[in-house]
Amino acid sequence: MEISYDFHIHSCLSPCGDDEMTPWNLVGMAKVMGLDAIALTDHNTTRNLPQAMAAGDAYGVTVLPGMEISSKEDVHILGYFPSLEAALAAGDEVYSHLPDIMNKADLFGNQNLIGDEDEVIGTLEKLLINATDLSVDEVSALIEKHGGIVVPAHINRGSNGMIGALGLMPFLPQFPMIEVYPGVDCPAYATKGRFQLHSSDAHRLDALHGPEFFLDVKENSLSGVFESLKSKLS
Ligand SMILES: [Zn+2]
Ligand SMILES: [Zn+2]
Repeated sequence: MEISYDFHIHSCLSPCGDDEMTPWNLVGMAKVMGLDAIALTDHNTTRNLPQAMAAGDAYGVTVLPGMEISSKEDVHILGYFPSLEAALAAGDEVYSHLPDIMNKADLFGNQNLIGDEDEVIGTLEKLLINATDLSVDEVSALIEKHGGIVVPAHINRGSNGMIGALGLMPFLPQFPMIEVYPGVDCPAYATKGRFQLHSSDAHRLDALHGPEFFLDVKENSLSGVFESLKSKLS
């Protein structure tokens, strides 16, 4: 079967994410938009995933546990994980690789942790949009160590895309799966032979896209989505 997806969405835990982007709100919006599956991919943390996955269960939307990691070269790399537990472990490890620079909420935005009642239960202190001290290769190894799938984010967009940050997209067999930002040119050499994902990178509720991109899965569940993505790597 084919399911619609948006596998790059930020919650209110990312400082650049709207305060309205609580896990419950964003999964509810995905449902309203008609999406079958989403991924929550906050910057360098996975701590809002428990609520996103609870909301996914409640609303009938598959939530793929994810994270957007900033390498020391300032490349954004998405990691998708087979379980909440794996994602939480990976997230805490990545957070420990952020510099000890605290968020200034009035400057960068709130980093809100959300609880069972959709309420703010705390904040994360380190500024999450900083680069970690991990190289692109070390980020990839960390994701794979936790059983995850490595996907360079928006390779064709801005200074945090792999092409912009490294000056060149590494060649296959590195990075068999990539995210290409829709509506922005991408050089053909960079996509040739690679499986492409297209997602919104939404930071606001009205930025989620509707059912525009599709993935074939055996069943619409976390394992169904994860196994489908894994099968595209070979
Ligand atoms: Zn990014
Ligand atoms: Zn993003």
